[in-house]
Amino acid sequence: MNGAVNGPASRTLRVCALYPSRMNIYADRGNMILLERRCAARGIEFAYTAAEHGDAVDPAAHDFFYIGGGQDRDQIEIAADMRATKRAGLAEAADAGKVILAVCGGYQLLGDFYELADRRVEGLGIVDLQTVREPGPRLIGNVMIDVEVDGERRRLAGFENHGGRTYLKGEERPLGKVVEGFGNNGKDGFEGVRRDNVVGTYLHGPLLPKNTWFADHLTSLALSAGGQRAELEPLDDALELRAHECAERAAKRSHGLRARLRLGR
Ligand code: GLN
Repeated sequence: MNGAVNGPASRTLRVCALYPSRMNIYADRGNMILLERRCAARGIEFAYTAAEHGDAVDPAAHDFFYIGGGQDRDQIEIAADMRATKRAGLAEAADAGKVILAVCGGYQLLGDFYELADRRVEGLGIVDLQTVREPGPRLIGNVMIDVEVDGERRRLAGFENHGGRTYLKGEERPLGKVVEGFGNNGKDGFEGVRRDNVVGTYLHGPLLPKNTWFADHLTSLALSAGGQRAELEPLDDALELRAHECAERAAKRSHGLRARLRLGR
């Protein structure tokens, strides 16, 4: 079918996944599958590019950049290459208002550095944040955060597992406030980072299938043109809403468990 030039059928979501073969724990790849399926359901073309080791990124060629989580060893493996081959393109993309979504290990690498016991992994320095290991256990569990989007309070639910504690610096603002779980560092009650269309978060799950409203929010930002937010037709999300509810329930249960452990019961 030939759509009008600006009609839905002519739209293409151009996604660039960074190191998808390495940065993919807790099924973070599911975020890409979800975007692809929702585009297909709406008649939007989905153009997917993987930028692996050694590949530069062209900020003008994509609307949505994505990086998933990874183990420390994966992050150590990619950090120098990411700075050398992708930093300039990603910084330009961020300045141009492209969507950048970074999860957990990828989120940590958006910042200045990730400091481990025996080394410091330099990040991209695209957002002003620092991640350090501190004494104490890994921050693991189901998590629920409140996010303000377009003046409305919305909820994201997912799962976190990180040894690093992230601290936002300067003017950086969190993605949301922790309702249940640990968030950035288990202390300040904040989760993730959001600067314009750059989003970092510790939420796995994967994030987008459990939070389809957020997938649509990011898609509509990525497809916006001339300052005009793209409109997306609603989809039947009955199953996805149930997945979200399960994730919220799991977060509430984890909270109850943690409270009982603290009380020694
Ligand atoms: N390796 C990082 C940490 O443990 C990030 C882990 C992750 O992506 N889940 O802090």
